[in-house]
Amino acid sequence: MVKAVVGANWGDEGKGKITDMLGETSDIIVRFQGGANAGHTIINDYGKFALHTLPSGVFYSHTTSVIGNGVALNIPVLCKEIESIVSQGVPKPKILVSDRAQIVMPYHILFDQYEEERLGKESFGSTKSGIAPFYSDKYAKIGFQVNELFEDETLKHKIHKVCEKKNVLLEHLYHKPVIDEEELYNTLVEYREMIAPYVGDVSLFLHEAIKEGKKILLEGQLGSLKDPDHGIYPMVTSSSTLAGYGAIGAGIPPYEIQKIVTVVKAYSSAVGAGAFVSEIFGDEADELRRRGGDGGEFGATTGRPRRMGWFDAVATKYGCRMQGTTDVAFTVLDVLGYLDEIPVCVGYEIDGEVTTDFPTTGKLEKAKPVYEVLPGWKSDIRGITKYEDLPENCRKYIEFIEEKIGYPITLVSNGPGRHEIINRGFED
Ligand code: GDP
Repeated sequence: MVKAVVGANWGDEGKGKITDMLGETSDIIVRFQGGANAGHTIINDYGKFALHTLPSGVFYSHTTSVIGNGVALNIPVLCKEIESIVSQGVPKPKILVSDRAQIVMPYHILFDQYEEERLGKESFGSTKSGIAPFYSDKYAKIGFQVNELFEDETLKHKIHKVCEKKNVLLEHLYHKPVIDEEELYNTLVEYREMIAPYVGDVSLFLHEAIKEGKKILLEGQLGSLKDPDHGIYPMVTSSSTLAGYGAIGAGIPPYEIQKIVTVVKAYSSAVGAGAFVSEIFGDEADELRRRGGDGGEFGATTGRPRRMGWFDAVATKYGCRMQGTTDVAFTVLDVLGYLDEIPVCVGYEIDGEVTTDFPTTGKLEKAKPVYEVLPGWKSDIRGITKYEDLPENCRKYIEFIEEKIGYPITLVSNGPGRHEIINRGFED
């Protein structure tokens, strides 16, 4: 049985917490896309961790953590992450890295920085982890798969070919130092030694696991609105954030993904540039940012303050639809307990007409939010374990949103901890 945990919005919905929780009953947890550009924050018995590359299941000794072929693999970041969790007392995790995963090269990170610099005011707000240059090279067929590290002669030849091209750009477009082929080769030899203990045939491993009836969890990064095809292009990420891509980025048949748990946050936040219809500003935003998540809404990778907004039912309905949601996990609801009233964006007004269907980017830039205001519940809901015990206005908020988005909210998260969850019909 394969489940996916994915985000409906701009990322940071709390997927890490939900994966960590569902990891308890899983055998294998797979990252299938993205790289070290986003991060999950996880709080468990070992402490508080920000993971960028490792799947959130690394804290369980019974699970295998898999880095699928769809991931942008930053080898030093992965190895540092393994070292850092082990040094904090977590048992050494079982890790399998796909021999077909591609490697984030040192120059990808530089190109990301140089391009953002070149764009200046028009930059994408990239985390500068090399993700866009990485995926560009992957599809331009000049990326390096992990298995290529182990073929010395072809590796040298390829380094030469790629450097020829990259160095023209470095010299003439960016006016920066060129890549030294030998230095790059030596770095890749180091990468080879670092990654060797973990490399394997992931799709074969997962094929066998599915046959044996193992429980597999696919862990998405970011959310639907950052998908390069269906998101707010071009202010998107460079690999698909949709559950459907889980089949490709892990190497399993699409029909095996039976449950798609879409994580939805009780209010909105976003990082980077791009239209954000229900965005709020000033003191109102500062207060929500300060109270939000666990210890404030600041990026797990960059520490940047997140942009804040009210819940957006238009974007979320669309986000859930694109994921193929079977279950919604509604998170960070406890944070809203301070508000007298809670606006919810229920429509977009575009050129004088109101729609509830998420538009293409040009129209989205013009959209103005249409709000309905719900009464707050003015209390702390942490510690509540049964749905009926939630304050009436809190249940009304959940049910209102469930009706607007059209997908069942079967999990309600009312705190950052692993067990701070209310089951409203979720079947594991
Ligand atoms: P992810 O990238 O989707 O995993 O999300 P992040 O980890 O960036 O952001 C979610 C933040 O919210 C983290 O700091 C979590 O610890 C925290 N969090 C998750 N669920 C809840 C919740 O129900 N209540 C509160 N207060 N915090 C939560």
